[in-house]
Amino acid sequence: MKILLLDLQDQGDAWVANGLRNAFPEDALHVAGDVGTARAALTGDGLAPDLVILCDEDTDRLLGAYAILAANATLPATIALTASPSVDAAVCLLRAGIDDLHVLDVGNTWQRQLPVVVEGLLQRLREKDARQRHDAELQASQQYLAQIIDGSSVAMFVIDSAHRVTHWNQACEALTGMAASEMVGTRDHWRAFYAHPRPCMADLILDGGIEDKVAHYYGTKGYRRSATLTGTYEAEDFFPGFGESGRWLFFTAAPLRDDAGRIVGAIETLQDVTEVHRTRDALRNNEALLRQIIQCSSVATFVIDETHRVTHWNHAAENLLGKTAESTIGTRELARDIYAHERPILADLVLDGADERTIAHYYGGRYRKSEMADGIYEIEDFFPNVGDQGRWLHFAAAPLRNEEGRMIGAIETLIDVSERKRAEALLQEGERRLAQIIDGSAVAMFVIDAAHRVTHWNQACAALTGLPAEKVIGTNEHWRAFYADARPCMADLVLDGAIETRVAQYYSAKKYHVSHVVEGGFEAEDFFAAFGSSGRWLYFTAAPLRNAGGEIIGAIETLQDITEQKRAEERLRQSEERYRVLSITDGMTGLYNARHFAQRLSEEMERCQRYRHPLALMVLDVDNFKTFNDTWGHVQGDQVLIQLAECITACLRRTDQAFRYGGEEFVVLLPETDLPEAEAAAERVRALFARSDISPAPGLRVECTASIGVTAFVPGESPRDFVARADSGTYEAKRQGKNRVIRILPPAGTTL
Ligand code: GH3
Ligand code: MG
Ligand code: MG
Repeated sequence: MKILLLDLQDQGDAWVANGLRNAFPEDALHVAGDVGTARAALTGDGLAPDLVILCDEDTDRLLGAYAILAANATLPATIALTASPSVDAAVCLLRAGIDDLHVLDVGNTWQRQLPVVVEGLLQRLREKDARQRHDAELQASQQYLAQIIDGSSVAMFVIDSAHRVTHWNQACEALTGMAASEMVGTRDHWRAFYAHPRPCMADLILDGGIEDKVAHYYGTKGYRRSATLTGTYEAEDFFPGFGESGRWLFFTAAPLRDDAGRIVGAIETLQDVTEVHRTRDALRNNEALLRQIIQCSSVATFVIDETHRVTHWNHAAENLLGKTAESTIGTRELARDIYAHERPILADLVLDGADERTIAHYYGGRYRKSEMADGIYEIEDFFPNVGDQGRWLHFAAAPLRNEEGRMIGAIETLIDVSERKRAEALLQEGERRLAQIIDGSAVAMFVIDAAHRVTHWNQACAALTGLPAEKVIGTNEHWRAFYADARPCMADLVLDGAIETRVAQYYSAKKYHVSHVVEGGFEAEDFFAAFGSSGRWLYFTAAPLRNAGGEIIGAIETLQDITEQKRAEERLRQSEERYRVLSITDGMTGLYNARHFAQRLSEEMERCQRYRHPLALMVLDVDNFKTFNDTWGHVQGDQVLIQLAECITACLRRTDQAFRYGGEEFVVLLPETDLPEAEAAAERVRALFARSDISPAPGLRVECTASIGVTAFVPGESPRDFVARADSGTYEAKRQGKNRVIRILPPAGTTL
């Protein structure tokens, strides 16, 4: 505490200073005799006093000095001592800003009183200072509090002693949907929670006597006194208006007290505990359900508690393991029954939180960790001591935990899978046998599963395709055995059930057909140029494989090399053709024979009749052939006939057909030919034959001729009439001197 005394009294006998010196420590008092010294002490790095005392018997001078000091420095509390008692002067000084004014009484009393006055003033200063500091601290702490409240993720609001909301934080805004700006300063906080005005818990706390009222508002079960905070209450309630389907809120209210312990407000916090509630409800339901499930379950189930004692043992467990619930519950002797010696069972290991190594120690590699949750294990094992001849059991153990997650027991279920195991063994045996059958078959075959992956590829198939089983089994690349580019095989089409619609895309219509033997099966044959040295013909069948429910689960394809058969067929076909040709050919001339003429004639007549196209017929007879034969012999006669056949063939069009009709008689059928054209053709044959070199003896040339009759077909007439008319032309040619062509017109009005 520092005091600056500016003593301007004319009679400066320093009584004021002395009086103060007696009351305050030496270094507390600084005395200035003029305004300049005082100003220096007040400015810059000067004294910085807490109190300035101005002292002068002349009030005007005092006022002047004060004005100078006040203009140059920020004055602390200032007290004036003056001799003038005038009210005007006092008013003037106080108006100028002086804090206190005392009239100098030069007597003893004043000298004694002065320190008391100063001390009193200093005390007031100290108080004022403390109050200011307190106010600043309060403001700061209020700001701090507001920030804490607002920054808290817990919804909260504060009311003051008048039940007005002073704080309503962001979390509270989010929870209630009410903005702080709507709430702060009002008494409307109930609106956020209730449809009608009523006190919130914070209001009850604030009013005191909460014990009497809280039950009225929250029911006896709805609230409780906080175990940790005195004067704090907690409650949980359901607010149907919150959210879509109401929310559960956990709320606490605590009084706010001033230093004196008076309640000046209340704070209420709110937490949405809907999920906790739901989980808890679910848990409660689950527990009840669990009890029922265990009892009623057809799966053998037992539970052990944290001391490894059996607490639940259901009927199915009684049946499977042959032990009653009474004899088991409460004991720890399960292992002895199951394994015939002392050791932990799976539930024990799970309860102890055993690691995988420990579990493997007891169960080898047969255990499986559950994918559903941590700490659950499943095992399948054979138990020779269960049942008459032992049983295969599938058992799973899971830890049971309390709400805090602490392990409080374990549950184990056991399923008798002996039947399945037996079926599996049989199935395996069946599959093995099937594989052997397939592999032992001389017919190449392969099988694909529902995913088009090859499951079987027998030795015959490997031999046929040159692709070993190990290269193709497990893949879906069986097409490689047959084709250069990826495409479905017949088995694939059958498997997809799309064969009817897609088969034509991959096999030409002639090559495949529906199987007459296997339902849903197809058959085809095709030539595979890449197989063997010169390609192979394969006959292949594909049929669906179905499960017991009739669903298609795969397909089998068999392949037979039918190359030899195909070649034999081809040879047969060729020899048949040869025979057919022979049977209709005249051996000597190479022309068609008379039998074939009969067939062709009726066919051509029919065709001509149907399409109204012209058809002509030529009949040729060698002239004087008897004489030739008689002269040169039959062999030479045959040469003449061969020569005539050549001449006929040379003069015909592709569609014309020549026949040796009788001994030395020939006929020619000329489709699409009218009579003049036929006559011209006959004339060409006649001329060519007449010019032929016929030399029955060396150096001798004999002229041979033929007589030719030509006519056109009359629709509706008989073959006999048609031939007879042409024949009559030949006869007429003979009659007119031979070596000529005579055309016979059809009867008038009958031509095309
Ligand atoms: P025309 O000019 O009137 O027809 O007198 P032609 O001697 O040819 O009389 P005709 O038609 O009756 O004689 C047919 C002869 O043709 C009788 C037969 O010996 C002979 N001939 C029939 N078939 C053959 C044959 O295959 N080879 C030979 N060399 N002669 C045959
Ligand atoms: Mg004749
Ligand atoms: Mg003749």
